[in-house]
Amino acid sequence: MLKEEFNETLESGWRNLLQILLEAMMANNYDEDRICELCERSRPIFLVEKDNAILRMQEQFMPQFLKGLKQDFLNKREYIKLLKIKSNFIQMCACHRRFFHVYCGTAYVIKGRKIYCRQCMAYYHLHVKNE
Ligand SMILES: [Zn+2]
Ligand SMILES: [Zn+2]
Repeated sequence: MLKEEFNETLESGWRNLLQILLEAMMANNYDEDRICELCERSRPIFLVEKDNAILRMQEQFMPQFLKGLKQDFLNKREYIKLLKIKSNFIQMCACHRRFFHVYCGTAYVIKGRKIYCRQCMAYYHLHVKNE
């Protein structure tokens, strides 16, 4: 009798875990509707030599983060070349509902020399090219 009870508890534990994982995976499929907290866009603005999208944008509509990024691009700061050209989102720290593009988040961390989030105190994850 005891053994059966134990198995039932274990099984419902696994079911709960699977449900949580499934929901997390489903949530990742809705990246298109997500807005990055830094660039305030669904797709990041990549700073590459042959594309000057950021130079064509009107400054008055740009969030502070993009203005700073544009300055660094114009000043040819080295870190910009190290950013991975990827448009996916990540949660950089343990705060819920704080989503950054991998691209923007990495630039933010390097630029601001911020290694942890002041709200949740978790270290930021860095994503740079392996060079
Ligand atoms: Zn962004
Ligand atoms: Zn946080």
